Amino acid sequence: MLVKKKVLFLNPPGKKIYIRDYYCSKVSKAYYLPQPVDLLIQTSFFNKSEYELLVIDCIAAKFSIEKALDKIKSFVPEVIIGMVGAVSLDEDIDFFNRIKKLIPNVKVLASGDALLENHEELFKQYTWLDAIITNFFNDGSKKWIENNLDEASGIVYRIENKKVSKSDKKESKLDLNVPHHELFLKGNYRMPFANAMPMATVLTNYACPYPCTFCIMSTMPYITRSAESIIDELIELKRLNYKYIYFSDQTFFQSKAITKQVLDWMVESKFGLSWMCFSRVDVLGKNEIDLMKKAGCNLIMFGVEFADERYLKKYKKNYTLDQIRETFSFTARAGIKRLGTFLIGVPGQSRESILETLAFAKEINADYASFNVAVPRANTSFREQAIEQGIIDDSVKVMDQSGDEVTMGTGKLSREELQQIKTKVNLSFYLRPKYILKRLFAIKNWTEFKMHIREAYHIVK
Ligand code: SF4
Repeated sequence: MLVKKKVLFLNPPGKKIYIRDYYCSKVSKAYYLPQPVDLLIQTSFFNKSEYELLVIDCIAAKFSIEKALDKIKSFVPEVIIGMVGAVSLDEDIDFFNRIKKLIPNVKVLASGDALLENHEELFKQYTWLDAIITNFFNDGSKKWIENNLDEASGIVYRIENKKVSKSDKKESKLDLNVPHHELFLKGNYRMPFANAMPMATVLTNYACPYPCTFCIMSTMPYITRSAESIIDELIELKRLNYKYIYFSDQTFFQSKAITKQVLDWMVESKFGLSWMCFSRVDVLGKNEIDLMKKAGCNLIMFGVEFADERYLKKYKKNYTLDQIRETFSFTARAGIKRLGTFLIGVPGQSRESILETLAFAKEINADYASFNVAVPRANTSFREQAIEQGIIDDSVKVMDQSGDEVTMGTGKLSREELQQIKTKVNLSFYLRPKYILKRLFAIKNWTEFKMHIREAYHIVK
């Protein structure tokens, strides 16, 4: 009888609701928690006929450290594919050290924003770490487990004398097998705007082809999935009785022909599930928005970022304020809600400039606004510039990428002043009587009502 290798997909426990996936770790805002997409995609590379697979998402399951260690001990994995976040780095290091003490022979591969730079140094420091997944959309982990190192891409690994070997093969289109959604805790994942539960995460493409300098996604190879592979996953999610889809692509509809094929299929097959996504104002025209509405989209998150065209140009967003106004306007007319994300606290930014951003968020009548302070993320030119200008020190590695915590001042505003302005901006946007009434009247069902109450509670908290 074939002895199956045991592989554990692990999201470690934490003192807070940590989201560690997609190279952007953060503390959850307003109680949201999507499936850890790195682990989800990684499951698709492993066949259950060859491997015994287990997912332990300690954050979704609310496991304590001791409970998590008990679960791991009773499974006795030979390999762990785990998450490590810059936001929870010290806790994660400690946890993986404890696992290695408990099961000394286990091999640990990890993915996360804390592992993107200085790999040789990381292998010296973290003796529990055997390999780093640098592109979770590649099957390098499986090839590495099978000792097929020549074929392993998207992975950096330790070899005997502690040197690092790296393969960087890039692919632009991938026929991904359906990820093993059935291994994840159904019903424990949520986004504030999901109007039905349970919710599943789907990724139709990887990274982003745009050059925005503050964003880690611009430094990674853009990869798309085939329409057939995405449709297979949607069919499986319906079979598993999921009710809502969160497309966690950085830019949904970037691959026009593929996305159109998927959405046409959703319309023609009467797929029937609602969904949300991220996209750009210059990617979605009226035809795309209308098709998205027909296919069940209830909310689009747009990275607006600035109300000043000089900043849009400087940070390479490469669209104009008029394009933002126009796309927000026809998205509203199509009956889809719009969330704008806004970046505040970039180097040199003044109080007046941030207040202009607030005024613009109100002018375009965003249904929701997320004001995020700029975070000097690892591996971005934005971080290099902030270090060069002396705004942060290179030693700052632990940070919350949600844009909630202020990591640096702007040069004109101190960290404390920036924190105060951020609070003021949020209150000014959300505590408008007209806005509150609009939100209350827009609630359509009990799930939405509960989500709003929970979200409001966590925002206030
Ligand atoms: S469009 Fe969005 S995801 Fe893509 S590089 Fe710019 S900020 Fe990042």
